[in-house]
Amino acid sequence: MRIRAAVLHEPGRPVTVEQVELEPPQANEVLVRVAAAGVCHSDVHLADGALGEGRWPIVLGHEGAGVVEAVGEGVEHVAPGDPVAFCFVPACRECRSCRAGRPNLCEPAAANGVRGMLMDGTSRLRLPDGTVLQHGLMTACFAERTVVAKGGVVPLPEGLPLWQAALLGCGVVTGLGAVRNVGRVQAGDSVAVFGCGGVGLQVVAGARLGGAATIVAVDRVPEKLELARAQGATHAVDAGGKPVSEIRALTGGGVDVAFEVVGRPETVRLAWGAIRPGGTVVVVGLAPKGVDACVPAIEFLSDKSLRGTYYGSGDPAAELPEYARLALAGALDLARVVTHVDELDGVERALERLRRGEGARTVLVVDPALAGDVRRVGPPA
Ligand SMILES: [Zn+2]
Ligand SMILES: [Zn+2]
Repeated sequence: MRIRAAVLHEPGRPVTVEQVELEPPQANEVLVRVAAAGVCHSDVHLADGALGEGRWPIVLGHEGAGVVEAVGEGVEHVAPGDPVAFCFVPACRECRSCRAGRPNLCEPAAANGVRGMLMDGTSRLRLPDGTVLQHGLMTACFAERTVVAKGGVVPLPEGLPLWQAALLGCGVVTGLGAVRNVGRVQAGDSVAVFGCGGVGLQVVAGARLGGAATIVAVDRVPEKLELARAQGATHAVDAGGKPVSEIRALTGGGVDVAFEVVGRPETVRLAWGAIRPGGTVVVVGLAPKGVDACVPAIEFLSDKSLRGTYYGSGDPAAELPEYARLALAGALDLARVVTHVDELDGVERALERLRRGEGARTVLVVDPALAGDVRRVGPPA
């Protein structure tokens, strides 16, 4: 079928919304009508060619929600008409990582994700001239419809507006998972969050849900610090000043856990300076390929840890519905991180805003009838 989708032909050229061919789902695949999609900093990295060669032409978009239209043979957990969120690591449940309880690191999903192919190693997307298109992070949801692996859709509880559910599959799973599964934030802990964009704000929300007593938000942009306060940050620190001394003063020597949600060596270094002896830095931010991060190694002697994380470091497909229920119950405000709403054709504008560091999440409403009423957006007045 013919659909409209956001295509990156090559880095450096604007992403354009155009007609592409989408093939029907094969066995163990699902066709989804996209309601809404979130624009994430990883989309900027892909669009700018910062994640390595050979990742284009591609249909971008890896965070979104929609309604199932058709399922291939072997798909039993969803049926046509079901509301779903996308999960960009469709775990195979059979490989070494999956069997070791680390489905976020599923090996075939990782290999195909980098190649932009579905789990059988092929694509369902073509340009009208026949050129094969990659599926962005196996999701390709900046499009009217998409075909994903069965593990790439997670059923949602009824009642959650899909424009909000669209945020679950990347920002929420990544941010809340980093807090729960990696930082293991406990009640009473002190936490610092470097970078309060779409994912950083979810880290703040996760730290609040985890019972952290002190949550220091660090960013250069006052609007983002305001959003972080609304998400539960107890303190806001300007990244352009002396954030490490301020955090150490606020917490009597440093935080238990610092989250780096920027993806730059400078902020990794700042986060390292902001933790107390025995503390942990969790690097959530995605750095472009070829970037090294350095910390003074002697400080490993004070029992400090530097940890990585990918996609929440848990079981995204199992945790996502739980986060959806938290949102339904009002414990997690998904709408608050949304600073801009646009249509599918606004994708390049949204990428530009991220490049300028402006705002937090943009939600692209692809199908207004499915997405639900877009209510309050942005920081509280
Ligand atoms: Zn993302
Ligand atoms: Zn696997």
